[in-house]
Amino acid sequence: MATIDDLPPLREVITDHGLVAKKALGQNFLLDLNLTAKIARLAGELSGCDVLEIGPGPGGLTRGLLAEGARKVLAIEKDARCLPALAEIGARYPGQLEVINGDALEIDPGQYLMPPIRIAANLPYNVGTELLVRWLTPPEWPPFWQSLTLMFQREVAQRIVAEPGSKTYGRLAILSQWRADPRIVLHLPPEAFSPPPKVSSAVVHLTALPAPRFPADARILQEVVARGFNQRRKMLRASLKGLHPGIEDLLRAAGIKPTERAEQVSLEAFCALAREVEAARR
Ligand code: SAM
Repeated sequence: MATIDDLPPLREVITDHGLVAKKALGQNFLLDLNLTAKIARLAGELSGCDVLEIGPGPGGLTRGLLAEGARKVLAIEKDARCLPALAEIGARYPGQLEVINGDALEIDPGQYLMPPIRIAANLPYNVGTELLVRWLTPPEWPPFWQSLTLMFQREVAQRIVAEPGSKTYGRLAILSQWRADPRIVLHLPPEAFSPPPKVSSAVVHLTALPAPRFPADARILQEVVARGFNQRRKMLRASLKGLHPGIEDLLRAAGIKPTERAEQVSLEAFCALAREVEAARR
């Protein structure tokens, strides 16, 4: 069967390099190159873009990104066992693949990349959520990236696109929808991975908006939302008590009833509240 490049099939790469999946690193590999090519296409037009890939593993998605025409891929991988397999891909695309062996949570990729930049990753879910929040909450906007295409546990993907009033609406929905446009673009069953994880997955594509939907300070909005949803069953006048002594007045000024619960409050109203808190603290 024709593949996306002339490199060996991923099963062979994994056997040849002894890449037995490590649970501690969240290693569930995608071995179907048609699928990794599809995910690379979902990342958008790649020609003329630098792509940051976190957690390339044996390189299935990396191969898709390069075959789709990425100008350069910077791949950050924690597991040194994957480096020889990635070097074989680099040899097939001279000068286009740079691999850093390290923890993505500790590396600032900005200095290695030229805009326009897209980010794509199939990451362990805990690392993915933490990076997503970081990428969405720099003090200034627009960010260094144009789009994010990320694999998540299906339930996390649903939280990212959730609407107010739904059970999954919370911090991730607000931060993702405030400055970006998130969409679930692909659902994947556990069997798509080797070894299969316990739950289904989904790919979420987020496009950075040129400006946030509503003005707010990123740090204060995060603080308001974290407190509000930490105790989501409580009325906001109780859950947000520690934010400011006059919280009930600030809630009213933002057009929110102090007796409402966080899950009823729109993104626009949370941003209004963040602005009221900021003004009251001055
Ligand atoms: N992208 C590959 C694929 O689709 O087959 C591998 C996916 S696997 C779910 C996650 C990858 O992320 C593994 O290769 C793992 O070693 C790597 N990884 C885990 N934590 C990491 C971290 N903090 N920084 C960089 N890579 C990490």
